[in-house]
Amino acid sequence: MGIGIDIGGTSTKAALVAADGAVIASNVMPTEPGNDHVVATALAAARALLVASGRRIGDIDAIGVGIPGTVDPLSGTVRFAVNVGIGSEPLSLGARLASELGRPVNVENDVRAAALGADWCLAAGGETVDDLAYLSIGTGIAAGYVQRGRLQRGSHHVAGEIGHIPVDPAGPRCACGQTGCIEAISSGSAIERMWPTPGGGAAIDLLRAVTAGDDAARQIWSGVIGGLGTAVLMLALTLDPQVIVLSGGVAAMGQPLCDAIAERLAFDGRNSGFLASLNVGARMRIIEPSVPLGAIGAVRSAYAASLDRAG
Ligand SMILES: [Zn+2]
Repeated sequence: MGIGIDIGGTSTKAALVAADGAVIASNVMPTEPGNDHVVATALAAARALLVASGRRIGDIDAIGVGIPGTVDPLSGTVRFAVNVGIGSEPLSLGARLASELGRPVNVENDVRAAALGADWCLAAGGETVDDLAYLSIGTGIAAGYVQRGRLQRGSHHVAGEIGHIPVDPAGPRCACGQTGCIEAISSGSAIERMWPTPGGGAAIDLLRAVTAGDDAARQIWSGVIGGLGTAVLMLALTLDPQVIVLSGGVAAMGQPLCDAIAERLAFDGRNSGFLASLNVGARMRIIEPSVPLGAIGAVRSAYAASLDRAG
């Protein structure tokens, strides 16, 4: 069994994962930003899992960490994880955790880890696919691509950062410095900005208002779904994956989100026999964000890395 730790901007989710991908135990704790705090939070999460499940570190044969930013899995370093307070100087996250835990620790970008987790979850549910694209719709928007169980990372470890493709020159300014990025239009933080909801849950609240016929909500919804439709179409046209899996905080909306994107794609493609033939809507799947895909996939990534090391 393995330990997976998914370090996010607000919380760190850890899971004890069986060899078949099933979650045996899990915990969530707040992420303290900054290099030392990130290391300490990950250690605390791993140790709490061992204590809660009555296991010892000797029972664990893989430890994987998923974290935002530019991750080099070979060196186990991370840079530019701005929402957890890690800057341009590489943090040797893998080495620091390994020296504390006495076990190798594999580090992967969080969205890519979740893509592997989605691949594992689909297979566990009886749907083994040749390849899949994973679209994370959370605070930010990014994608991962898994082909025959292996991640594609690109030459600079930024493959899949499609949230920062500008799609609307008249759109809002993005945190990355560009204008009208998909992330600035359709992410969880964009929805919160446009539809402020006291106590959180802006995406669900927006959907509720749309269903109730609120005009302002419908207008915002149309922009959000348009951006997500573009993201899905980009994945379909660049990678042509067998399935496109959606998850992340905004996916808490569930099937209505998937249906709205599929409807929009069908509408936009109504004059294109080519687009209609791609049948993109039918290839979409949604996995509830309560499934800790990042932690599950971090374990899978750690297993894959240890197989690679074994040659
Ligand atoms: Zn951007």
